[in-house]
Amino acid sequence: MSRQELEQLGIKIGLEIHIQLTKLKTKLFCGCNADYRDMPPNTYVCPVCLGLPGSLPSVNKKAVEFAIMLGLALNSKISNKTLFYRKNYFYPDMPKNFQISQYNKAGGVPIALGGQMILKFKEYDKRINITRLQLEEDPGRISYDGTILSSPIAYIDYNRAGITLIEVVTEPDFETPEEARIFLQKLRSIVEHLGIADLSLEGSMRCDANISLYGKNRVEIKNISSYKDVQAALNAEIIRQKNIYKHGGEIKQETRHWDSDKKRTFTLRTKEEEQDYRYFPEPDLLPIEISSEMITSIEENMPELPDDRINRFIKEYKLPRYDAEVLVITKSLADFYEDVVKKYQKPKEVSNWIMSDLMRHLNTLNIEINDSKICADDFIELLNLIDKGTISGKLAKRILQLMMESGKKPMEIAKEKGLLRINDLKKIQEFINKVFNTQPKAVSDAKKDPKAIHFLVGQVMKLSNGRCDPQITNKLIKEALNKI
Ligand code: ZN
Ligand code: MN
Repeated sequence: MSRQELEQLGIKIGLEIHIQLTKLKTKLFCGCNADYRDMPPNTYVCPVCLGLPGSLPSVNKKAVEFAIMLGLALNSKISNKTLFYRKNYFYPDMPKNFQISQYNKAGGVPIALGGQMILKFKEYDKRINITRLQLEEDPGRISYDGTILSSPIAYIDYNRAGITLIEVVTEPDFETPEEARIFLQKLRSIVEHLGIADLSLEGSMRCDANISLYGKNRVEIKNISSYKDVQAALNAEIIRQKNIYKHGGEIKQETRHWDSDKKRTFTLRTKEEEQDYRYFPEPDLLPIEISSEMITSIEENMPELPDDRINRFIKEYKLPRYDAEVLVITKSLADFYEDVVKKYQKPKEVSNWIMSDLMRHLNTLNIEINDSKICADDFIELLNLIDKGTISGKLAKRILQLMMESGKKPMEIAKEKGLLRINDLKKIQEFINKVFNTQPKAVSDAKKDPKAIHFLVGQVMKLSNGRCDPQITNKLIKEALNKI
């Protein structure tokens, strides 16, 4: 659907994003190791995160600092005094039967309020308002033999229980699924530039989306695990609601689950009311006082943020704004770019290579630059080989793909696959002779019309798999024609 078609639907989308602060060494309220991925179940647990009677939580100071950093990056107002609340619900992934979280009502004050992010599109700028940021603990994980419905057993792993989450809640300001995706990409880039999380880790960024059409009931979609999926899930939900509306049906207020394999949403439950959670202040934790000195000192030590980096790329490398924005939206890609440009000082050329061929291969392989097998030094070597004429620009594209798949050096691949450029006059002459022998008509055409030489050059290139040096080939063909 075009933006205009979407506008007619009166779409309102709000997001709630849970981000694990994966750069923290320990959990939010205990000293357990936070690096739980790939660990056997229930390795990193203690009486606090298991919710054993008599255990007392204490707040991870670094987590508070990280949350303040994100709040400042999103132009939010950092609270001078913030409180933890209990969100009660009975579920096996929550050992205490409540989650220590924050609340913005009934006297609760989350760590940061308000804020905004500006999204830039070709035709317009869009301001997305942030409602609040809150700190809370992640629940554990439940896994099943097969599916949730067929499994006779549920397995509980509390390694994740108590991991620090920061929840970012936005106003329902998004009017298209694309805006939601770009917001999440930019949020991820901000978080990674701040150095507070690595969001390429599985499950480290999870998103719930509220969506309503035509001013009707709001539907919440849970369990969206990537920014690409957010756009897909919202698109699927728009089509579903549009169809109901068209046929005069009622759009129910409910919570739906996004199934990324089936590419559609399913009813999960009708929405519980907020009072069901019986929020009340966490009696085991004192309010946290955040002094203005602390905020100032964090602000002064903030790393470079994406918007500043985009401006620096434009100034320092003379890149068009579009290039700078594409590179910086993924921190690892921007880092790779700068690693290359440090040693290969043709910034626009490098950006062209990254934005076209490199990114296309990453998309096809569905990986990020960090997971690909290519390193900056090998990429620089490839560019140098083109400059020296050792390989052609066209074949370099193929070599790049093989580099990304195999991790081999460009020269190694070029030799192995016979992709080196042929500069040897004798060898090129052999290819020319073959073409002249098999295409007498084209030869006589070229004798009459110099423009027809291009065809012969093309045939030689084709026969040599694009390896013959085109300039030498051109020159030798002209000489050969003159002799006839
Ligand atoms: Zn613990
Ligand atoms: Mn939450």
